[in-house]
Amino acid sequence: MACNSSTCQSSCFRNEDNINNVGEHPRDTVPIETSKNRTSVEGEQPSPCVKCKTNRTISAVGSPSGENGGDAGKFCGDCFRSNLYGKFRLSVTSHAMIIPSDNVLVAFSGGSASSVVLQFVHEMQHRAQKNFEASRDRSLPVFGVGVAFIDESAVYPVASNKYDKSIQQIKSIVYNLPPPLKPLHIVPITDIYPSDSGGKDRLGKLLDAVNDITGKEDLILHLRMLALQKVASEKGYNKLILGSCTSSIACHVISSIVKGQGYSLSADIQYVDARWEIPVVLPLRDCTAQELNLLCWLDGLKTVELLNSRRAGINSLVSSFVTLLQEENPSRESTIVRTAGKLKAFHFNRIPEINDCDMPLATQRRIKRYNQKPQESISSEFFCPICNSPLDNSELLSLSAHDGSQSSKLNVCCCSSCKFQILPKDPTLMEQFYLLLPQQLVSRPKSSNHGNISLLR
Ligand SMILES: [Zn+2]
Ligand SMILES: [Zn+2]
Repeated sequence: MACNSSTCQSSCFRNEDNINNVGEHPRDTVPIETSKNRTSVEGEQPSPCVKCKTNRTISAVGSPSGENGGDAGKFCGDCFRSNLYGKFRLSVTSHAMIIPSDNVLVAFSGGSASSVVLQFVHEMQHRAQKNFEASRDRSLPVFGVGVAFIDESAVYPVASNKYDKSIQQIKSIVYNLPPPLKPLHIVPITDIYPSDSGGKDRLGKLLDAVNDITGKEDLILHLRMLALQKVASEKGYNKLILGSCTSSIACHVISSIVKGQGYSLSADIQYVDARWEIPVVLPLRDCTAQELNLLCWLDGLKTVELLNSRRAGINSLVSSFVTLLQEENPSRESTIVRTAGKLKAFHFNRIPEINDCDMPLATQRRIKRYNQKPQESISSEFFCPICNSPLDNSELLSLSAHDGSQSSKLNVCCCSSCKFQILPKDPTLMEQFYLLLPQQLVSRPKSSNHGNISLLR
């Protein structure tokens, strides 16, 4: 599964301290100084923004520590902002991630990636609203936006004052956005269990049953997606927007390979993932964590001190490794994602061609252009009940040969990675583990997700 904003396994939140501690934000772009008022390095004219060739670059005006190279050294604030928004907009329009009749749910974790994605989705909605008011016939509706925060304090306990502060910050970020008002859903992760079944207790026991530290973290990630899917479905949203960025996807690529998830990897890293009941879209796929951090700093976008714990195990090792690679060469993360992007995608990563009169003609044309031909994608009808990864042929063979109890069936149905890292090794513990899993997980293989492509609308 591609990580959502709150699961970003990389550096999206790396520079948060820097971001939060910066007092002044150079909101306005400053023109190049003339030789008369120049106070910078003697005798050296700072080079202007590479795009507009007029304004001073962000780093010349003053940027967060360690941001003198990269985009801060190339662009002025305005050009950097419009460049980043342009990348987001291109992803959204070319893959029809948001169309006028949609009601989208933004998964918000409080990190810089989710702050930016919320801001951008808001700007898009704001523009749509203005167009709607200006149009004579008012035929195009304005898409709805909601925000969901998955509260994981049941898994990662935090002091109540810290928790209350973070929740207040989230509320202030969402409710302080200009109209249209966006509903905020703060959902405890224990909501994946029925309310009367002692969810917190069951979740605790379930996680205790997983010995592997990486397996435990990954299981929480899958449960978080389950919680997001549940709230999206119950509250009437039809798309789920995640803040996964190039950096977090690059980490996911490397860690998936290490975990033996090579077969299903390409499913997780596309712009659209419609294997879920509520299709998932990744509009920040082409933006790096560094860019998102810089925008947060530049525009004073607030981030929230995360309630989630630090990463551990393979995910943490990979995150430090990718950070190191990126420090060495700032295009490494993009290279990893571009290279992995050459793998064949799955049929549920296809953009459906919708004949919808609500969708602008240009968008329909773009979808056609970006769509892969059917023979260029892999079709898969069976999914791992724990992580929802498509299963490959060898895994399917053992599935068809099996006829046993529910709990031993789970052992057969799972992908090899979940078998190795999440399921208990001791067969006598399987029954207990099976009973502790949320019902939606264990019932998923029966309901078979392969019809989900029709739900992309
Ligand atoms: Zn510029
Ligand atoms: Zn799995």
